[in-house]
Amino acid sequence: MADEEGIALDLALARSDPEGFAALARHAESRDLDYVVLSEDVLSGDDEGLDPWTTAAWLAGRTEKIGLAADIDADIPAMADKARETFDLLAGARLIRHVGRQVQPVTTAGEIDRLADAVADRPKPARSAAARAQRRDGVDYDGIPASLADVAIEPGDQGYRARRATYMRGGSPGLVLRPRTPAEIADALAFARRHRHLPLGVRSAGHGVSGRSTNDGGLVIDVGALNGVEVLDEATRRVRVGPGATWKQVAAVLDEHDWAISSGDYGGVGVGGLATAGGIGLLSREHGLTIDRLRAVELVLADGTPVRASLEENQDLFWGVRGAGANLGIATAFEFEASEVHEVGWAQLALLTPDIEDALRRFGKVAAEAPRDTTVFFLTGSPRQGQSVVQLYGMVDSADPEVVVERLTPFASVGMLAQQEVVLTRYAAVMGSASDVGPTGHHGSGEPVFRSAFLPELTDDFARDAAALLRTGQIYFFQLRHMGGAIADVAPEATAFAHRTPAFSVAAMGGDRDGLNAAWDRLARHFDGLYLSFETDQRPERLRDAFPPATLARLRELKRRYDPTLLFRDNFPITLEDPS
Ligand SMILES: Cc1cc2nc3c(=O)[nH]c(=O)nc-3n(C[C@H](O)[C@H](O)[C@H](O)COP(=O)(O)OP(=O)(O)OC[C@H]3O[C@@H](n4cnc5c(N)ncnc54)[C@H](O)[C@@H]3O)c2cc1C
Repeated sequence: MADEEGIALDLALARSDPEGFAALARHAESRDLDYVVLSEDVLSGDDEGLDPWTTAAWLAGRTEKIGLAADIDADIPAMADKARETFDLLAGARLIRHVGRQVQPVTTAGEIDRLADAVADRPKPARSAAARAQRRDGVDYDGIPASLADVAIEPGDQGYRARRATYMRGGSPGLVLRPRTPAEIADALAFARRHRHLPLGVRSAGHGVSGRSTNDGGLVIDVGALNGVEVLDEATRRVRVGPGATWKQVAAVLDEHDWAISSGDYGGVGVGGLATAGGIGLLSREHGLTIDRLRAVELVLADGTPVRASLEENQDLFWGVRGAGANLGIATAFEFEASEVHEVGWAQLALLTPDIEDALRRFGKVAAEAPRDTTVFFLTGSPRQGQSVVQLYGMVDSADPEVVVERLTPFASVGMLAQQEVVLTRYAAVMGSASDVGPTGHHGSGEPVFRSAFLPELTDDFARDAAALLRTGQIYFFQLRHMGGAIADVAPEATAFAHRTPAFSVAAMGGDRDGLNAAWDRLARHFDGLYLSFETDQRPERLRDAFPPATLARLRELKRRYDPTLLFRDNFPITLEDPS
C-alpha cells in the first residue's frame, strides 16, 4: 500500500456533475493511479454529496479496474457484509479499504496529471530485507534494465499477488517485467537472453490455456500496458489494437461504428494470445478467424529488433504470425480490418437428454446444414444419473428476428429444451458480459488439463465414441465449436493456421492428465489436427498435429531466421530441426 497512490473525489461533485465526476475517475485510471476514495467532505467540508456507497457502485460501472474506497454505514453489519460481497463479485474485487491510504483531493484532470507525473518521477523505495528475502535463485535482480526498474515486480512486492497467476494457472514467477513500449520490450528481451536457464512467459491478458504466461521461478514479460484501441481509417475500417487489450474492450470501441472484429467467445481474453494463434469465435463462420481480419502486425523479435509484417513487407513473418505468432516474437500492435456488424441474434439454450450420443448426432446434422451467418457451440460435461445437460450458445449475424428464429429453431431438436434466451443485441454486449479483472488480478491455480482436436465431420461413429468418453466421467467440459463458412474460404497455405476445412473444433477439459490423454488418444482416428490454443499435452506429436508437414517445415525455417536460439519456448516451441 505504501507505494500506491490515489485521489479523493468529493461526493458533492457527484451530485452537481455526475459525468464530470466519472470522467475524473476514468482519467485517474488512465494515468495508472491506484484508487479513488469517495469522500463526503474532502473538499467542500459539508455533506451535500451523494451517498458514497451507491456512488461507488455506479462508478464501478463507468470504470474498468481502478480501486474504489467508500465508507459504508454499518448499522446492520450483515447487510454491510452482503453489500461488500456483492460489490466484490460484480465489480471484480475492486472494493478497497480507505484506512491508511495516501489521498490527494482533486477537482480537475490537470491535478490528476500532476499527481500521476509526480508518482512517475518518484524514486522507487528500496526493497526491504523481508522483500528481498523472497527473491528467487538465478534472477539478476540488480541487473534489471533501468527502463523497467519502476514497473518490475518481484515476489516480495506489493503488486506481486495480482501478477503471479493467470486465468487458468497458478504461478510463482521470479520476476514480472511490464514494458510499456516496443523499446522497453527490447530491453526486457535483452534481460531474458541473459536468463536462458529460467522459463520465460509472455503475457498479454493472461487467458492462455496452452501458453505459459506464468511459471515457477522464471521471468514473465507482461505487455498488458500496450492496450490501446484506435480507429485508423473510417473508410477502410482499419483499427490498431495493442496486445494487452481484451476483446471486450475492442468490441466496445468498435460498437460505436457498427463494426466488430471476429474474436473468441469470451470478452476477457486478450488480443495478444488470440490474434497470434487463430481466434475461433461467434462470428468466424461469417467473417473469418481473427487472424483473417489481420492486415499488419508489429513485433519485437528475439534479438530486440522491431519489425512490421504485412502482405507488403516481411510477408513470411506475416504468414507465420497468423497461427504461430507466439514462436516468432512479441507482438506489440495489430492492425485489423473490422467487419460491419449491426445487431445480432444471441442465443443461449439449455437442453436435457438421456442420450448424449443422439444429441451429438443431431447437433452435427443441424450445424452442418446451418448457413454461414449462424454459429452455434455445443457444451456439455459427463452425464449424471443418465441425464446430460447440453448448453448451446450461438450467434446469428442478422438483425431480423424472423431470420434469427428460423436459423435457431432446428437446434432446439438436439434435446429437450429446458431453458432458452434468444435476444437481439450487440456483439459488444455479448463480449461485455465477461468479468473484468480487478486490481487483485487473476486467481488461477494449478495447471489446466485440456485436449484439442479438429473434427472433419461429426459422424455417427464419432458420436458413439464421444458419448463413451463422456460416460467415463473423466471430462467435465466438452465443447464443439462450429467451423466452416468463411474459415474455409482461406487457403490452407495462406497462413500458418492450416486446418481450414474441419466442421468443428473439439476441446475437452479434465482433472486427470494421464486419464484424459489416454481417453482422448483413443478418439484419434476421428481427428485431423488440433488447435494449439486449447491444448496442454506437451508430447512432441502435438506440434505435428497442429501444423501439417509443409506448414511445420516453413515454420522451422522462420524459427531459424527469427528465433534461432529458441528464446520463445514456453508455448509449443518449434524446434529448428525435425526430431523424427
Ligand atoms: C475463458 C476462455 C475462453 C476462450 N475462448 C476462446 C475462443 O472463443 N476462441 C479462441 O480461439 N480461443 C479462445 N480461448 C483461448 C485463447 O485464445 C488463448 O488462450 C489465448 O492465448 C489467450 O490470450 P491472452 O493474451 O489472454 O493470453 P496470455 O495468457 O497472456 O498469453 C497466452 C500465450 O500467448 C502468447 N502471447 C501472449 N501475448 C503475446 C504477444 N503479445 N505476442 C506473441 N505471443 C503472445 C504467449 O505464448 C502466451 O503464453 C479462450 C481461453 C479462455 C481462458
